[in-house]
Amino acid sequence: MAEKDSKPVIVWFRRDLRLDDNHALHSAWETGRPVICVYIREPESPDIGSLGAAQDWWLHHSLLALRDSLRARRSDLCLRSGPAATVLQDIARTSGADLLFVNHAYERRAVDHDIAVALKAAGIAIRAFHGQLLHDPQRIRTGSGGSFKVYTPFWNAMQKLGEPGEPCDAPASFIAPDSYPESETLASWNLLPSKPDWASGFSQFWTPGEAGALEKLEALIDADLLDYKRGRDFPGTDSTSRLSPHLAHGEISPARIWHATNGIAAQHRDDLVHFRKELAWRDFCYNLMVEFPDLRTRNWDPKFDALEWAFDTDDFSAWTAGCTGYPIVDAGMRELWQTGYMQNRVRMITASFLVKDLLIDWRRGDAWFRDTLLDADPASNTANWQWVAGSGADASPFFRIFNPILQGEKFDPDGAYVRRWVPELEKLPNKYVHKPFEAPEHVLADAGVELGKTYPRPIVNHGMARDRALEAYKGLKS
Ligand code: FAD
Repeated sequence: MAEKDSKPVIVWFRRDLRLDDNHALHSAWETGRPVICVYIREPESPDIGSLGAAQDWWLHHSLLALRDSLRARRSDLCLRSGPAATVLQDIARTSGADLLFVNHAYERRAVDHDIAVALKAAGIAIRAFHGQLLHDPQRIRTGSGGSFKVYTPFWNAMQKLGEPGEPCDAPASFIAPDSYPESETLASWNLLPSKPDWASGFSQFWTPGEAGALEKLEALIDADLLDYKRGRDFPGTDSTSRLSPHLAHGEISPARIWHATNGIAAQHRDDLVHFRKELAWRDFCYNLMVEFPDLRTRNWDPKFDALEWAFDTDDFSAWTAGCTGYPIVDAGMRELWQTGYMQNRVRMITASFLVKDLLIDWRRGDAWFRDTLLDADPASNTANWQWVAGSGADASPFFRIFNPILQGEKFDPDGAYVRRWVPELEKLPNKYVHKPFEAPEHVLADAGVELGKTYPRPIVNHGMARDRALEAYKGLKS
């Protein structure tokens, strides 16, 4: 129902860079009033959780795509930098707007609360909507009204809520305000790396923006989620959706994904349920963060505060560069560097290696992933790091330590993944591709591998590292 007022309304985009199933945008459009769309580059602060360098690359392209889509609907995107409350008040003052539409962003609830107080004091009303997750975290509660700390009961409770709300379509066109507020140029934000341009390969793998997200979703549906459940553990296959960077920037809504998968063939029901359970993990991570806003910086389980982490700069550098001497770890870290993405099983292996084999604090790994992952997500990244470290809610126990050789042999049995990202090992036979340091000299020579020269020797002995980690953990318990 259109409101009679002709004053413009403001839509503030954050991690919801889409027109489709965007409840804030849709509701603003439904007022029948002119709509001013704005994206604000806020000053870095721990409360807001700044984007990493890889995500800056994504953001640049995503904002361009969003602006083009808005322009095609007779609207535009205003880019501004500064503290959000100040920018929004300025836009309201110069445009005459007195109403703001925004989607909830659960990772920044405290800072949003302060912004809301400032805006209300300035006479700007706010309408906030859910849509970042499948379900509003406040709706998934235990019998006693608390939040879930274990995933399976969380999933069961989510099932009882039924399907997420029906997605709303993108508005066809907007009423433009008399004049659009001044916008900064995207180029002036310098989001793209230049010297060196380490992101030059990203566009081979990704198309930031809503259209790219829909393409990925369609590919998933066309493949009928075939082999998702089994294949998602095998990094050499291409069984997962690769929707994570799009979800992290809100270019597609989880509800849209959920409803789109309703058409998956009945014989792939197991794959479908498993896929939805993964999507629900994302909700679970946000639920943990809502419950424990310090999740990014503090151990969920305070027992881990006493753990004596080691920190060796050379070890950490070798890990970031994919030069640890353990092929599956190195393949993962190099995939990350070259594509801005890493397959889930390999994320677990590389994270476990950092935390348990190198005994380096999970927060350092979390920060590296945040800077290099295109899908870096404030809740999913940290909750998963804490899960691997054992310090998180419903976490993998600390004493369960991945053996990088066995993990490689089990989940990359023909070494396809390692050969792709660590080409210097390409010619090693399967038997040694996950443990070149055990290969006889003549096998290495035939494959053109010279340990310590063409490929590093292991930076730690896994057996010894495992004992060291268990010792540290034992001390923790006592
Ligand atoms: P699919 O298998 O197709 O899953 C569909 C969607 O479900 C994903 O796009 C993602 O949004 C969600 N999802 C799947 N697995 C998980 C999970 N374990 N936790 C939370 N959500 C999940 N995921 C991120 O989106 N951002 C991160 O910053 C992130 N950091 C991680 C760090 C570590 C140490 C680990 C072990 C995992 C991390 N994950 C993160 C989870 C997972 O690895 C990725 O979501 C997944 O690999 C993305 O690929 P996909 O889109 O093809 O996933």
